[in-house]
Amino acid sequence: MPTRNELWMKVQQLLQKNLSKPSYETWIRPAEFYDFKDGCLTLLAPNSFSSDWLRKNYSHTIEEIASEIFGNEVKVYIKVKEEFSSKESNKKKNFSNLENSSVIARDNSDVKSKQAPIKKFLPSLNLRYNFNRFVVGPNSRMAHAAAMAVAEAPGREFNPLFICGGVGLGKTHLMQSIGHYRLEIDPEAKVAYVSTETFTNDLIVAIRKDGMQAFRNRYREADLILVDDIQFIEGKEYTQEEFFHTFNALHEAGRQIVLTSDRPPSQIPRLQERLISRFSMGLIADIQAPDLETRMAILQKKAEHERMRLPRDLIQFIAGRFTSNIRELEGAFTRAVAFASITGLPMTVESVAPMLDPTGQGVEVKPKQVLEKVAEVFGVTEEEMRSPSRRRPVSQARQVGMYLMRHGTDLSLPRIGESFGGKDHTTVMYAIEQVEKKLSSEPQLASQVQKVKDLLQIDSRKRR
Ligand code: ADP
Ligand code: MG
Repeated sequence: MPTRNELWMKVQQLLQKNLSKPSYETWIRPAEFYDFKDGCLTLLAPNSFSSDWLRKNYSHTIEEIASEIFGNEVKVYIKVKEEFSSKESNKKKNFSNLENSSVIARDNSDVKSKQAPIKKFLPSLNLRYNFNRFVVGPNSRMAHAAAMAVAEAPGREFNPLFICGGVGLGKTHLMQSIGHYRLEIDPEAKVAYVSTETFTNDLIVAIRKDGMQAFRNRYREADLILVDDIQFIEGKEYTQEEFFHTFNALHEAGRQIVLTSDRPPSQIPRLQERLISRFSMGLIADIQAPDLETRMAILQKKAEHERMRLPRDLIQFIAGRFTSNIRELEGAFTRAVAFASITGLPMTVESVAPMLDPTGQGVEVKPKQVLEKVAEVFGVTEEEMRSPSRRRPVSQARQVGMYLMRHGTDLSLPRIGESFGGKDHTTVMYAIEQVEKKLSSEPQLASQVQKVKDLLQIDSRKRR
């Protein structure tokens, strides 16, 4: 029976025989053995891109081969080398990098929350979202400066700091950078990062289980509280009520509050007047879409971090095509890199361009086209879809339109609502859920949806 890293070496040997050389060299060989214990094989990938790739494409095969060699079931875990080692060394600092979940450790039962004050604040900050990795451009200069100021001197000048901007423009990144930097300056700081959704859910749980006091203690003990996507508080009366008190308690105690939203406070519908005024009493800093130069710098930086080298004209090409959403820009970069390494083609504009064509996943479908095609397939007019009509064919078409806009464009929920004559975002959310549910049980609807999807793709191909 092989032991420890012998196992990984054997798996590698077998894979080498069965995979193409580029695939083996790109993905398998660079993965390092880290640990093999209790049937768990942990490997370290050189960067987050290859760890995702390994996980998606090879972890199953690796598990199969390893289990066979080992003679017992083996589970494979793939971590990013850089982040994994910094995480290990940060454990002392009460750090955790579980992505996107509530910040505050949940293992403490509500009742015990009076003890262990520091342990309660395990911020699940994404290690990648730090100031070093944030490229400052004219679009984000002010928000960035304010974020730095707040991390350096929390609770003083800008309280709350309200960061607003469109989808994928770096609000969460900037907000979490404040948390990281604060913890760097003061490792004992109680930093809480929470999405508005989590805050709401925690509140519901607290009400149900009668843990209001614990809930309050938990949130009100933060030195620095980061609340992401506060626009989702709209229309939730009870959450607004509770948040108002949390806000006041923290503010009065001189703790720093940072909020993000896709809109300024005054434009969040169904937000209590008193919250609008609280949210506006510090600094409202917005992030705009980045210009070409900034987009290029963002790609450049990403390439450096992934230890990849991309020619300048390729960077310019990608940056020129993805203009309004940095998440998409990064996605295009990732696809380009993947494409080149799978095909073994060089990283040039020529070889990568077809990969980034708008016929690729969901890029550059225009909301107008979605309306047009949905109207065509469902036999209603665009005008009807924008009207308040609740006639079944119309509302069905409208829901599908919203669903397809969500999946085919990068519009935010409120913007999608606007495309349908000013429906509010909860309506949009509901519509999307309805369609998702019905797709599996109503074949006719599913085929209509597919038809619209096909039409949209054919259209974008014609444009080429
Ligand atoms: P938002 O919260 O505004 O929707 P995110 O903060 O999630 O956007 O950013 C989307 C992606 O773009 C993230 O991967 C983030 O790291 C990256 N990003 C956004 N702004 C920048 C920037 N200025 N420099 C580097 N990366 C950025
Ligand atoms: Mg965000």
